[in-house]
Amino acid sequence: MVGVEALCRWDDLERGSIPPGVFIPLAEDSGLIQSLGRWVLRESTQQLKAWHEAGHTELLMAVNLSARQFQHGAVLTQVEEALVASGINPARLELELTESVLLHDGEAVMSTLRQLKALGVKLSIDDFGTGYSSFAYLRRFKFYKIKIDQSFVRDLIDDPEDAAIVRGIISLAISLGLAVLAEGVETDAIAQRLKTLKCTYAQGYHFARPLRPEVLAAKFLSEAD
Ligand code: MN
Repeated sequence: MVGVEALCRWDDLERGSIPPGVFIPLAEDSGLIQSLGRWVLRESTQQLKAWHEAGHTELLMAVNLSARQFQHGAVLTQVEEALVASGINPARLELELTESVLLHDGEAVMSTLRQLKALGVKLSIDDFGTGYSSFAYLRRFKFYKIKIDQSFVRDLIDDPEDAAIVRGIISLAISLGLAVLAEGVETDAIAQRLKTLKCTYAQGYHFARPLRPEVLAAKFLSEAD
């Protein structure tokens, strides 16, 4: 295991668990995504700091960013704040953005990405292949990793088209010198196939379902020195 991805959940006393697919768009529409995003960055880096201090110094934490956080470059301040407050090694923080971020206001976004990179953090493209993919930005900015969307990975074994797309994305990433990760890996058969396709990383229910930090630590981090 090389890292974890921070996932946000909302447990409401009356309505139960509200899925992120419901509350994230609401937060984006209402503008609350700015304070939610800032809070997520703070919480995740504090958690990572605790795990680093417990001896798991190589562990990476991936945090999802919303396109809205890029407006006025707000995300830059939020990431700087989180890095200063936690004191973690910036190279252990991975920021995930979707292709939609790259669609809007090209120059402003590129400038923010360059400034983020200058802080020493890693930048990855999330859900790759589902947005309005433009290969131009792969040429303009050196990302750390491409995360292949789970919709291509799920039927990798049975669907030749999905297999062709996954193989293509992996070879694109390798040729560009980027790390590549398959999302939504649910079976050992898929994990094995990805290995033969030379996919660097994988994540999904096959490895672990979303866990609370203390459960994750007990299950996956107890062996470390
Ligand atoms: Mn993600």
